[in-house]
Amino acid sequence: MKSALSLERDVPLQPLNTFGVSGQIDQLLRVQSFAGFDRPELYDFLRDPACLVLGGGSNLLFVQPPRRAVRIEHRYQSVEREEGRFVWLRVGGGCPWPELVEECTQRGWFGLENLALIPGTAGAAPIQNIGAYGVELVEVLEAVVVRERATGAEVRLPASACGLGYRSSRFKTEWRGRYLIESIVLRLSREPRVKLNYAALAQALPDGEMATPRDAFEAVCRIRRSKLPDPAEVGSAGSFFQNPLVPASTAEALRRDWPDLVAYPQPDGRVKLAAGWLIDRCGLRGLRRGDAGTWPAQALVVVNYGGATGAQIWQLAQEIQAAVAARFGVCLEPEVQVWH
Ligand SMILES: Cc1cc2nc3c(=O)[nH]c(=O)nc-3n(C[C@H](O)[C@H](O)[C@H](O)COP(=O)(O)OP(=O)(O)OC[C@H]3O[C@@H](n4cnc5c(N)ncnc54)[C@H](O)[C@@H]3O)c2cc1C
Repeated sequence: MKSALSLERDVPLQPLNTFGVSGQIDQLLRVQSFAGFDRPELYDFLRDPACLVLGGGSNLLFVQPPRRAVRIEHRYQSVEREEGRFVWLRVGGGCPWPELVEECTQRGWFGLENLALIPGTAGAAPIQNIGAYGVELVEVLEAVVVRERATGAEVRLPASACGLGYRSSRFKTEWRGRYLIESIVLRLSREPRVKLNYAALAQALPDGEMATPRDAFEAVCRIRRSKLPDPAEVGSAGSFFQNPLVPASTAEALRRDWPDLVAYPQPDGRVKLAAGWLIDRCGLRGLRRGDAGTWPAQALVVVNYGGATGAQIWQLAQEIQAAVAARFGVCLEPEVQVWH
């Protein structure tokens, strides 16, 4: 077995975050296997509230580099159970999400296709209940296996206990900083059903009911590549802000002034507004402040064209928040976790 832990000092931050923000982490502990969970150096890191648990760095903006970080790199997949058409797959927290989706689609284990090409790791997926093209992780998540940072105790949390909602979970709110996610358990189906409730995906699959999960996977990859910057070329963390949820009365009032307002009624009576549309209507799509900017093809994506610092990107994000609040009276909340 590989050595469970490896400690590095003075580690460049830039390759560890998709914004490509520069800096240095004083101490980085890489976790390649949880066989070493009782090792004192891991406890020493995890008990320190200032220590960041890091995955692929694709949902983080570093205004300051963390002094200490634990990077989850252990990768494994094992089938826990098979019953009827379902397969329960346990996946190590360090598994790269895009590879996992592609592999499962190829094996005929379905349910993840619409979540293709979302960067990052399996362990981070429950943190904000990743979602795209009409599907959220909650639809296939069975359980989350965590280690309590304070004690090292292993706990298997059923997905229903994790408070998964739109880009949120208890891991982001009342459990923030409490757990390290060691692995997740997915419930996948052998039945080749495709979810086409997202209009842009349905349009990209004209065969409709005849489309296979592989077709959906490929269509999602094509759409994403046309709309989003490739983190290998232009730094970003995908959507910077969440789509705001507002009372129906607010949406109605806005529609009187803005008849083309993009708004989706939610089952709880609230209305979800498209943050990208709001930013666009403030004239901020394609905005550039030095090397920080918004992506010309999607205003919701804040980008680093090369040399922007985390502070400069954060300043631009705050400028966007202020403009949207002034024009629409709507508060945009970051989807990205900002590390100060
Ligand atoms: C181009 C692009 C497109 C994107 N598109 C989407 C999209 O369509 N939908 C979507 O939902 N997201 C999207 N994202 C955001 C991002 O990919 C996801 O949020 C992803 O799950 C983050 O994974 P990560 O491993 O990079 O997490 P990181 O950025 O490393 O961490 C994010 C948060 O999770 C915590 N964390 C990470 N791993 C663990 C762990 N094992 N245990 C405990 N805490 C942990 C970190 O402390 C941090 O608070 C996109 C990002 C990019 C760059």
